[in-house]
Amino acid sequence: MRVTVVQGDITEQPVDAVVNAANSAMRGGGGVDGAIHRAGGPAVLEDCIARFPHGLATGEAGWTTAGNLPARWVIHVVGPNHRAGQRDRSLLTSCYANALRVADELGARSVAFPLVSAGIYGWPLEDAVAAAVDTLRETLTEVEEARIVAFSPATYELISARIG
Ligand code: ADP
Repeated sequence: MRVTVVQGDITEQPVDAVVNAANSAMRGGGGVDGAIHRAGGPAVLEDCIARFPHGLATGEAGWTTAGNLPARWVIHVVGPNHRAGQRDRSLLTSCYANALRVADELGARSVAFPLVSAGIYGWPLEDAVAAAVDTLRETLTEVEEARIVAFSPATYELISARIG
């Protein structure tokens, strides 16, 4: 699998699946979660309610329709909330490994990832980048491209440097 980076908005990525940094309630939220629900339209929330009546645990991944997005599926993951004291790094790396497992179940070959937990949840940026790049590289998968989408130029530079 190739690990790539682009700067931009994850909702515009023409990939098979986009990963959402959701919260455990799975009913929408701020940041990338809000952007995905806005761009995907109400079908995304309807599918979240139908498929995740009790939400999703931290570190886990599950899929829904992508509604109006160019992608076919949204793979929702719940990163640890560092700001609220969830500091177990394996919960963050699990998000990437579990998202790739779900992508394999779906047959997705290209998957766009945000930097999970690096926004509202406050995971230190450099370690969020390392967790993303290293875990994607270490996970065995049929996915051909894992595209990390950086929202800012500074984040793009950090991710590029880690990919090398
Ligand atoms: P979390 O609650 O897991 O921290 P956030 O959505 O707050 O999730 O932030 C995760 C990362 O996604 C941050 O780096 C943030 O800048 C970035 N981000 C926010 N909106 C978008 C978007 N539309 N496309 C790509 N990345 C985004």
